[in-house]
Amino acid sequence: MYIVMLGAPGTGKGTVGGLLSKELNIPHISSGEIFRNYIKKHNKLGKEIESYITEGKLVPDELAIQLIEKRLEEPDTKNGAILDGFPRTENQAIVLNKFLEEKGKRINIAVDLSLPDKEIIDRIVKRRTCPNTECREIYNIDFKPPKVDGICDKCGTKLIQRIDDNEETVKQRLETYHTISEGLIKYYKKQDILYTVKLNNKSDLTTLDIVEDIKEYLNKN
Ligand code: AMP
Repeated sequence: MYIVMLGAPGTGKGTVGGLLSKELNIPHISSGEIFRNYIKKHNKLGKEIESYITEGKLVPDELAIQLIEKRLEEPDTKNGAILDGFPRTENQAIVLNKFLEEKGKRINIAVDLSLPDKEIIDRIVKRRTCPNTECREIYNIDFKPPKVDGICDKCGTKLIQRIDDNEETVKQRLETYHTISEGLIKYYKKQDILYTVKLNNKSDLTTLDIVEDIKEYLNKN
C-alpha cells in the first residue's frame, strides 16, 4: 500500500504520516528528512541541497526523484510506504506512478491536508522538532510544549528548530507550495484517489480522527 501525503508545510503531514506508518506497519518516508540527512553529511551534495532548502526553494526534480527512488528500493518498502513531502510537483507524481507501475504497484490514496496560510505560519515558527530519526516527535511551544523546556518528552533528545522553520522561509515555502500544488492536486483528483481534509486551528478533528477516516477510505477502496 502506498499513501501520498499532500499539503503545505505545517499542516500535520508528518504527524498523520507517522501514526499511519505505525498502524499500517509500513515505513514513513519524509523527503525533507532525507534531504536534511544529506545536509548533515557536509559533502558537496549536502551543500547543494542546503542551498535550496535554506531559501525555501524546491530541490530540483531530477535530484529529488533520484534520492527518493533510491529510498524506495530498500527492502523495508516491500509492503508499501507513506510518502510525506514527495511528490511535490506534477512531474514527480508522473515519474513516481511510472516507477510503481513497473513494479506492479500503485498509489492507494493521496491525502490533502489543508489549513489557512496564517495558521500555518503561526504553527511553523512555534514548531520544535525532535531530530532523533527513531522518534521525530513534533512540539509546539504554545499548544504542545515539552514537559522540560527544549527536551523531547519521549526520548530525551535536545529539540531543534529546523533551519527552514522561520517566518521568512515559511512564506517562501508557502508561495512555492501554492504555485505548484494545484497541478498535483488535479493530477490525483483525475485518478480518483484524492482525499481532502479541511482543517483550521479551531477544528476539533484530532490526528487520530484523521487516521481513522483514512483507514476507512482505504478499506472501502
Ligand atoms: P519538508 O520537510 O517536507 O517541509 O521539506 C523541507 C524542504 O525540503 C522543502 O522546503 C524543499 O526545499 C525540500 N523538499 C522536500 N521534499 C521535496 C520534493 N519532493 N521535491 C523538492 N524539494 C523537496
